[in-house]
Amino acid sequence: MNKELDKLLCANYPKIFARRQVKDSTMHFGFCCGDGWFNLIDGLCTSLQYLTDYRGTPQPEAVQVKEKFGRLRFYITCGEDEMTEAQSSVIDLARILSAHICEECGCPGRIAANGGWWTVRCPAHEPEGSLSPEEYVTAREAGR
Ligand SMILES: [Zn+2]
Repeated sequence: MNKELDKLLCANYPKIFARRQVKDSTMHFGFCCGDGWFNLIDGLCTSLQYLTDYRGTPQPEAVQVKEKFGRLRFYITCGEDEMTEAQSSVIDLARILSAHICEECGCPGRIAANGGWWTVRCPAHEPEGSLSPEEYVTAREAGR
């Protein structure tokens, strides 16, 4: 994610991204995903901070934010406290939504396989020769 969007998230959610500048934190690497997921992460953080400020959930701190197998992974810690069901649900929802949002530009996209890598891309950003999950499975089975 570019520096400006990174700074904006850290400025808007200083409690959630308290570890962003901590050298021995995995959060020190920044947001390991594309700019297209900015709004998704912004919405997720709004939800998490709302739960803490108005619903009494413990304050979460992000320990790692990255793309894995094409989807958004957002790992948090609540210190001494357990993550609540509500926090877990909004993080799950963001992961599910990420499979439909182009990681490059934020337009509607799909999960596609390309050379063994899973990504979410819109038609404009999908590399040539990408396969849908169904096409990927069919191609693999045909290759056996
Ligand atoms: Zn795109």
